[in-house]
Amino acid sequence: MRIGILGAGQLGRMLALSGYPLGNQFVSYDISGSPGAVIGDLMADPAQEKLDEFLSQVDVVTYEFENLPADMVAAIAERRPLYPGVTSLQVCQNRESEKRLFGQLGIPTARWRVADSVESLEAAARELGCPVVAKSITEGYDGKGQALLRAPEDAADAWERIGHHRLIVESFVQFARELSVIAVRGQDDEIAVYPMAENVHVDGILRYSIAPAPSLSSTIQVEAETYIRALLKEMDHVGVLALELFETDDGLLANEMAPRVHNSGHWTQDGANTSQFENHIRAITGMPLGDVSARGLTCMVNIIGRHGEAKDLLRLPYTHLHLYDKSERAGRKLGHVNVQADSYRELVWRAMNVASYLPGTPELSCSLLASSDQL
Ligand code: AMP
Repeated sequence: MRIGILGAGQLGRMLALSGYPLGNQFVSYDISGSPGAVIGDLMADPAQEKLDEFLSQVDVVTYEFENLPADMVAAIAERRPLYPGVTSLQVCQNRESEKRLFGQLGIPTARWRVADSVESLEAAARELGCPVVAKSITEGYDGKGQALLRAPEDAADAWERIGHHRLIVESFVQFARELSVIAVRGQDDEIAVYPMAENVHVDGILRYSIAPAPSLSSTIQVEAETYIRALLKEMDHVGVLALELFETDDGLLANEMAPRVHNSGHWTQDGANTSQFENHIRAITGMPLGDVSARGLTCMVNIIGRHGEAKDLLRLPYTHLHLYDKSERAGRKLGHVNVQADSYRELVWRAMNVASYLPGTPELSCSLLASSDQL
């Protein structure tokens, strides 16, 4: 099939990389004005004048990025099959609608309020009790558009720093660790759920994912699966959906979700029988889903800002290097390394070794290191 991808970043690139072996072709449609190194054809159209031409070249459309103009996406959905559909995109573009859907489906979250002025931000911080995290309702990612308020008096400063007219204000969660669950749903309602990953964020940016997440209780896995299945069904979502969660002493709290392949699922490229990218392509082209079981243990290490020396990483027998063909810039995701091992002890050692070759990578700190009896 000819697959159109809205967006032209690394996720689209990896979707194409996994979709060509299945006989598909790809056209990426970019309105950002700064497309990445796509694989397949690129249609750069910042003025949105070539949508007809793009649609004439594709049989089905998907997206690798959710901050897209709603009217453009609605127009596309009228003319070509769009997976995931408009509902998934609309819900996931907006933290408020996302939180409302979590509530409606009985999925617990941190307590939250909406603020549309400095005064209402300050009032929300007082009501919820500090610390609170304020986040722009739309367009935030990788911790951007967020501020931590240690006291209600921080409201004016936070409002100005975020610079957005509507915010979500959440209680700060004292989590034991961050987890994510990734699932894929086919057009025939078949659902497959990957083993969960433990994720390590530093300054809001994902640095490491370990999968399957160590010492995961069966209750937590079942809870997470129940939540993501409910979300997939409710949104009639076809393709991959990722749900980020906090694990606390009282169970799971949902943080946010993404209607697409996700950075915390990159481990599946080397660590699962079918990657999240291939399964997304299978789902949107009406093919049967592939097996989502893990092959051993994997730690994904993100390469951010600077590349380091690829040859040092490639000398290590347990690494798989994935580069996005991007130039170096502070905070920019340039690639990732999937590290594999047969035991968590070996995995931690290997991930730390890989990190030592990647300039600026924070040291691994994860649940495995917090309690040495897991190693
Ligand atoms: P987000 O963009 O919502 O995924 O937030 C990025 C990261 O900030 C999360 O992965 C957490 O590490 C942290 N974070 C976000 N919201 C909260 C919260 N309510 N309490 C504690 N940490 C948070």
